[in-house]
Amino acid sequence: MSQNDAVQRGYQRIATEEAWATPELIQRYRDLLAGTEFDDPGFRNLWGFFATSDTPRATDLRDRIQDLDERRLADMDAAGIDMALLLLTAPGVQVFDAPEAVALARSTNDLLAATIRRHPTRFAGLAAVAPQDPRAAAREIERAVRQLGLKGAVINSHTQGEYLDDEKFWDIFAAAEALDVPIYIHPNSPPPAMIQPFLPRCLDAAIFGFACETGLHALRLIVSGVFDRFPKLQIVLGHLGEGLPFWLSRIDFMHAGIVRSNRSPGAQPLRKKPSDYLRENFYYTTSGMAWEPSVTFVQQQMGIERVMYAMDYPYQYVPEEVTQMDRLPLSPEHLKMFYESNARTVFKL
Ligand code: CA
Repeated sequence: MSQNDAVQRGYQRIATEEAWATPELIQRYRDLLAGTEFDDPGFRNLWGFFATSDTPRATDLRDRIQDLDERRLADMDAAGIDMALLLLTAPGVQVFDAPEAVALARSTNDLLAATIRRHPTRFAGLAAVAPQDPRAAAREIERAVRQLGLKGAVINSHTQGEYLDDEKFWDIFAAAEALDVPIYIHPNSPPPAMIQPFLPRCLDAAIFGFACETGLHALRLIVSGVFDRFPKLQIVLGHLGEGLPFWLSRIDFMHAGIVRSNRSPGAQPLRKKPSDYLRENFYYTTSGMAWEPSVTFVQQQMGIERVMYAMDYPYQYVPEEVTQMDRLPLSPEHLKMFYESNARTVFKL
C-alpha cells in the first residue's frame, strides 16, 4: 500500500481501536494468573488463554499485539489501513494495585509516544490510565495529551468491579472535558458479581459478555447525570455502541417511567432523554462489527458524523474487511467521514 492508494480512493482509512501490549504487561498478567491474590474469573478466562496458551490463536495474538514496527505495519498494509489509533489492550493497568498501575500507565504512555514518534504518519494513540487513583489518572491524561501528544484516554470499563458513574472518579471526566479529548470506554470482562452465568458456555468475553458489561457501564454514566455535570464530555464506544443504539426507544420509555415513579435514588431526573446523551456525548466505532446492516443502522440512528471505522486488531484481524466496508451504501463524502474525517475530528489527528 502506498500514499497513492489513499489519494486515488479519496480517503485514508484510519482504524480507531487497535490493541497493543508490552512484554512487561503480559508478564505481569502471567504473574497475576500464577498467584491467588487477584481472584477475577473473567481475567482468568481471557488472559489465562491469551497469555499462556500455546494454541496458534493465542501465540499469534501475543506476537502481533506486541509488535509496533514491521509486522504490524505489514498487516496494516495488507488490510489497507493507513493509520492505527493504538490502545493498550484490556484490561490495561486496571487489574493492579494503585501505585503499580499509576507507574505502569506512565511508563507505557512514554513508550507509546516513542512508538508514534518513529511512525508519525501510521500511528496515533490513547493514554492508558489507572482509575484506581482518580487524581493521578486525571493528571496522567493531562500529561499524555499536553506533553506526549496522545489523543485522549482509554479506560477498560470497570476497574475491579467499580464503575465510573461513582463521583469519586469524576476528576477523570473533568480533565478530559477541560482538555477537549475523548475517553474511549473499551470493554472488560464482566466483574465477579456479574460473570457467573456467562462462564459455563464461554460467553463472557467478546462474543457477548463484553457488550453486556460495557453497555451497562455507558448506561450507568448516563443515568448518573455525568453528562449534565460535564455537558461537553465525549465518550467513544466500540463494537457499534455495545448494542445500545438498538435499545434507544425502550431505554427512553423505561427511564421516564422509573424517574416519574421515583423508584430509585440512583435514577433521578436528567436534563435530557438517555437517547439524547447517546447522540450528543458518544461516538461509535465499528470494531469487530463490520456488518453492513448494523453499521448502516447505527449511522442512521446516531448520526453519520458519530460513527468511525475500527478493526479491533489483532483480536479480529480480517484483512479483507475494508473491501466490505468500502461498499457501504454511502456517498463519497460520507465514506470519507466514516474512514477518516470523523476520526480526525474526534481525536484531533
Ligand atoms: Ca478491542
